[in-house]
Amino acid sequence: MDENSDDGESFPEIRDSVRRLCEQFPGTYWQAKDRDRAYPAEFVQTLTREGFLSVLIPEEYGGSGLGLGAATAILEEVHRSGCNGGACHAQMYVMGTLLKHGSEAQKRKYLPEVASGALRLQAFGVTEPTSGTDTTRIRTFARRDGDDYVVSGQKIWISRAEYSDLMVLLVRTTPREQCAKPSDGMSVLLVDMREALGNGLTIRPIRTMLNHATTELFFDDMRVPAANLIGVEGAGFRYILSGMNAERILIASECIGDGRFFIDRGCAYARDRSVFGRAIGTNQGVQFPLARAHVQVTAAALMVSNAAALFDRGAPCGSEANMAKLLASEASWYAADQCLQTHGGFGFAEEYDIERKFRETRLYQTAPISTNLILSHVATHVLGLPKSF
Ligand SMILES: Cc1cc2nc3c(=O)[nH]c(=O)nc-3n(C[C@H](O)[C@H](O)[C@H](O)COP(=O)(O)OP(=O)(O)OC[C@H]3O[C@@H](n4cnc5c(N)ncnc54)[C@H](O)[C@@H]3O)c2cc1C
Repeated sequence: MDENSDDGESFPEIRDSVRRLCEQFPGTYWQAKDRDRAYPAEFVQTLTREGFLSVLIPEEYGGSGLGLGAATAILEEVHRSGCNGGACHAQMYVMGTLLKHGSEAQKRKYLPEVASGALRLQAFGVTEPTSGTDTTRIRTFARRDGDDYVVSGQKIWISRAEYSDLMVLLVRTTPREQCAKPSDGMSVLLVDMREALGNGLTIRPIRTMLNHATTELFFDDMRVPAANLIGVEGAGFRYILSGMNAERILIASECIGDGRFFIDRGCAYARDRSVFGRAIGTNQGVQFPLARAHVQVTAAALMVSNAAALFDRGAPCGSEANMAKLLASEASWYAADQCLQTHGGFGFAEEYDIERKFRETRLYQTAPISTNLILSHVATHVLGLPKSF
């Protein structure tokens, strides 16, 4: 590795601890979970117990009060080790909506238990089947009835809902047509899934090309105490957007970890595999794609660390978070493709972990936001080009 590379230099102790933790969860563990589409509960419990999922919670609420820079180091190492943070990464950042916009009473009630892991707050309910990325067209509606909201509607692709005690849910509280702006009239509710399940909430798992515990949710007059409204009624869209920056930066760090995993594995295989009497890595046709992957991942990593630093300073970072996610997801996908190619037929064998990670890293060009929507943001918000929608 280049001695001037910043590869692995930030938070070295944290990275080292995460690496050692991940050694307990080798490829065979993930292969079995993937085959059965089973939740990696043991991995999640271990990360929770070691305090890695509560680094963003301030010390006064029981977390370690570190910044997003530390959180990106954790998730990058998880992914570089061949593990997957998708089962639990949201426990790190979903609480940000509560932390930034919740009342002091709500924070005191929930955050210490989220920090200890006693409460799992890792479901984030935004996407709906008919609205897609056009979030202002969500239809899930919460009607006020005495001390409760009564929620009806549907969400799709809500990950980890079966493994979460609480969910941050975006609903409409005023119909879009009655609002001055389309982004007005939406609110955020903190839903206690344990009370709601079977009482108006139905969860239906969706089987996907990767093991991601994602689901469809149906709300049929689900009652949520009005005390669980986060912030001000009608201002929810803004609260959700601010949480999405953290999400995008953290997902980008997972892509960096994936990219480094693929480059590590691709180079190791290229050195070891001998064909035509020499290591395949001797051929420039094999070397150059791996070298290009390294260049791209290294460049994307700089963008991720820049976005995380802006976030930690409290500076605006929406465009940087988006750009980091775009570059990192494309760099990891290129690295995945080249790693697979380097492995020849063996790349397709389950036991090498390449095909599994290949499927896993592809998600990030679509979720949590697709590449086109990022390009549209950059074109209109950064470059000032006319809006297309
Ligand atoms: C495994 C998985 C887990 C997920 N987890 C969650 C979760 O926990 N919580 C949650 O709320 N959501 C979750 N999502 C949803 C995810 O955020 C969305 O799938 C994603 O944002 C894309 O939205 P969509 O699927 O509705 O696509 P659409 O909005 O229908 O878009 C389809 C395609 O058209 C393109 N497109 C749409 N409009 C335009 C335009 N104007 N210009 C150019 N291109 C356009 C998009 O880029 C995309 O490629 C998850 C999705 C998956 C697959």
